[in-house]
Amino acid sequence: EWGPAPESRAEADAWLDSHGRRFGHYIGGKRLAAGETFATVNPATGETLAEITQGTAEDVAQAVKAARKAHGSWAKSSDHDRARVLYAIARGLQKHARLFAVLEVLDTGKPIREARDIDVAQAARHFYHHAGHAELRGETHPDAEPWGVCGQIVPWNFPLLMLAWKVAPALAMGNTVVLKPAEWTPLTALAFAEICDGAGVPPGVVNIVTGDGATGAALVSAEIDKLAFTGSTEVGRLLRRETAGRGIGLTLELGGKSPYLVFEDADIDGAVEGLVDAIWFNGGQVCCAGSRLLVQEGIAEDVTARLRARMARIRVGNPLDKSVDMGALVHTEQKARIEAILERTTGKIHRGAAPDGCYLPPVLVTDLHSADPLMQEEVFGPVLAMTTFRTPAEAVQLANDTTYGLAASIWSQDIDVALDTAPKIDAGVVWVNGTNMLDAAAPFGGLKESGFGREGGTAGLAAYLRPGTGAPLKAPKVY
Ligand code: NAD
Repeated sequence: EWGPAPESRAEADAWLDSHGRRFGHYIGGKRLAAGETFATVNPATGETLAEITQGTAEDVAQAVKAARKAHGSWAKSSDHDRARVLYAIARGLQKHARLFAVLEVLDTGKPIREARDIDVAQAARHFYHHAGHAELRGETHPDAEPWGVCGQIVPWNFPLLMLAWKVAPALAMGNTVVLKPAEWTPLTALAFAEICDGAGVPPGVVNIVTGDGATGAALVSAEIDKLAFTGSTEVGRLLRRETAGRGIGLTLELGGKSPYLVFEDADIDGAVEGLVDAIWFNGGQVCCAGSRLLVQEGIAEDVTARLRARMARIRVGNPLDKSVDMGALVHTEQKARIEAILERTTGKIHRGAAPDGCYLPPVLVTDLHSADPLMQEEVFGPVLAMTTFRTPAEAVQLANDTTYGLAASIWSQDIDVALDTAPKIDAGVVWVNGTNMLDAAAPFGGLKESGFGREGGTAGLAAYLRPGTGAPLKAPKVY
C-alpha cells in the first residue's frame, strides 16, 4: 500500500453524527428539517453519509422571501461591515479547513490532497479577495447597486469552491443569496451555513436550499433578481430561454472540451506533466479540463510514449490517502456514462490501472479524427482524446473545431508561436506553458457554448451590480 495512513475522518463523522445524519435547508438563519429526503453517498465506499431534504417550490419561495427581507439592511450596511463579515467567513473556512476537506472527499471522491490544497484553500482565498472588494465598493462602484436576491446553482465537481465563487462576490457587492448545491454533493454547503452563523452573517443573507434539478428549476422561476448557474451546457441553454425577457441578471458557466496544443519545440516533459494536471486533476471532472490533446506530428510518438509511462505512475485509489493522485468518480452513474462513451469510440484506448468500484484509471485515446464523438463531446472524466496536426494553422483550426470555448493550453518554447497562436483560439482563457491556473483576481468564463458572462476579477464583480438609479455618476476629479 502507498504512503502514510489515510487522513482521519473522525471529525467529519462526528460532525455528521451531531446532525443525526439528517439535514434540512438553511433559511433565514435557521435549519428547517421537514419533508422528503434523499441520500448523499460516499462514492468510494458506497455508504450513505446523510439524508438530505428535497427542496420544494414552497421551500424555495420561503428562502427567497427570507433573502428579500434581509436585502434592504444588508445592501445599506457599510462597506466596512460587509468586508468584516467576509473576512470572518474566510477565517472560519481556514479554521475548519480539515473538516471541509474531509467532508468534500467523502461526498465527491476527490483526493484529499486536492480538497485540502485547492478546494478549501481557494474557497478561503475567494472570501479574502472579495472582502477587499467589499471594503472598496463605494470607491470603485459609486454609481451601481446590487441586483438584490441572487439565485445560485452549483454542480458537484467543486462543491465548496463553486459556492465561494458565487457567494463571495454577491455578498461583497451587497446582494443576498439563495444557493442550491448539487444533489450528489450537498455536505460542504450545509457546513458552510455554520461558518455563516459564526461569522455574523445576518439571518437571510445566505440561504441554502438542497434538492435536485426540480428544486433548481423552482429557484430559477422564483422571484429572484439575478441567476448565476454553473453546470451543463444543456441546462444552461434551458435557463437562458427561461430567464429571457424577465430583466434579471444572468451568468452561466457551462461545459468545455478544451484543447491542449503541444508544438514540436515544446519542453515535452513539461507538457506531459502539465497533462497530468490538465486531464487527471479531479479525475477530469473539471469544466476547463484539457481533454483534447493536439500534438505536432513530428513528436507525436515521443509524446505518446512518455505520456503512457507517466500514466502508469498515477495512483488511483482511496481518496483519503494523502499519496493518492486520483480518487473515486463522483457517482456510479458518472462511471457508467463515461464507459458508454468509450465503447462508442473508434480510437485506440490506452488505460492505466485502477481498483474495482467507482473508479476509472487515466485513459488516453489515440488515432482519432476530429469528428469522433470523443473529440467533440464533453466526457467530464479522466479521458484524454489525442490527435495530431502538421502546421500551426492546422493546430488553430483543430483547436476551434468545437462548439465549446472555455479554455486552452499552448506548449511551445518559441514565444512567437505562442503569442501568434493564443489570440486565434476561441476560448475564455488561454494558458501558455501551463494549465488550470485560476485565481479570484482573474476573470473566468466561456465563449460559444461554454458560457455567458464572467466570474472572478472585476468582470465577475460587475455581474453582481446593476447600473444605479439612485446616485448620479460622480464626475472625475480634476487636479
Ligand atoms: P447539471 O447541469 O446537471 O447540474 C448542475 C446543477 O444544476 C445541479 O445543482 C443540478 O441540480 C441543477 N439543475 C439540473 N437541472 C436543472 C434545471 N432544469 N433547472 C435548474 N437547475 C438544474 O451539471 P452537472 O452534471 O452537475 O455538472 C457538470 C457540468 O458542469 C459539466 O458540463 C461541467 O463542464 C460544468 N461545469 C462548468 C464550470 C464552469 O465554470 N464553466 C465549472 C464546473 C462545472
